[in-house]
Amino acid sequence: MKRVYQKRKETTKTLVPDIESCENQPTTSSVIVKTEEENAMDLKKMRKSSDFSPIDDTYVVSKKSMVTISGRMAEQIQRIEQMRLAADAPVDTMGCHMLADKTADPKVYRFQILVGLMLSSQTKDQVTSAAMERLKNYGLTIENIEKIPNPDLEKLLAPVGFYKRKAEYLKKVAVILKKSYHSDIPATLKELCDLPGVGPKMANLALQVAWEKVEGIGVDTHVHRIANRLGWIKTKTPIETEKHLTGILPRERWQTINKLLVGFGQQICLPVKPKCTECLNRDICPASTAKPKKSVS
Ligand code: SF4
Repeated sequence: MKRVYQKRKETTKTLVPDIESCENQPTTSSVIVKTEEENAMDLKKMRKSSDFSPIDDTYVVSKKSMVTISGRMAEQIQRIEQMRLAADAPVDTMGCHMLADKTADPKVYRFQILVGLMLSSQTKDQVTSAAMERLKNYGLTIENIEKIPNPDLEKLLAPVGFYKRKAEYLKKVAVILKKSYHSDIPATLKELCDLPGVGPKMANLALQVAWEKVEGIGVDTHVHRIANRLGWIKTKTPIETEKHLTGILPRERWQTINKLLVGFGQQICLPVKPKCTECLNRDICPASTAKPKKSVS
């Protein structure tokens, strides 16, 4: 896995992936996505043959063996919320909403949110958070980023993933924001996506956190993977995932779904070896690897 990542790192020339390791983890090769009928059959078999005990048996299996998407999805989301009650995942304490200085001038605060998001791709929350602390101690303003020599900026960013390219992007973004946006960040999805190094996930989250505007769903590798594993969608790319999720999730969920699934993906539904035996959705997840316990005769 590491070798593949290194190889891609060397050959990627113009773009820092917006989505952490998504391109290295195609969902189709690692996630079993079944049809609704298959899911319903599996669910029925598991409930008959195991001692799995759903917490709240409120989802409906009709006489035609069909589980409605909305019913099962609502149940899965409810259980994820239950698993996330402690709110103690890295995203809860080091997500982009926590990295900017809330006491700073509003324009500086919004710029810092954007910077945090730009640094976060291909980077663990802990590493992003540490880099943001170094930047804030230096003085994380558009003016300072514009002036700082590239090698010094790189030193502040390392070991953030793709830090050299991100340093270039940050300097270009600082120039654009100063020249075209009165030293603020843009307030539309399109304008944010037009900035160097900013993709749809970052743009959506920047809009939500900095401007409190919800125009879409921030789909990162966790959201993409988990939505496919749970059988909500069957997609190959985060862009497709966002398109489909906005079609099936109520708008009031668009802002909260990212943090909910990211934390779940960091703690339980891990990219590799998900902790299915600990997962409350194990009996209603098409990708569950938890085996039903054998009954003692
Ligand atoms: S059962 Fe496993 S694959 Fe399914 S949501 Fe839970 S942890 Fe993820």
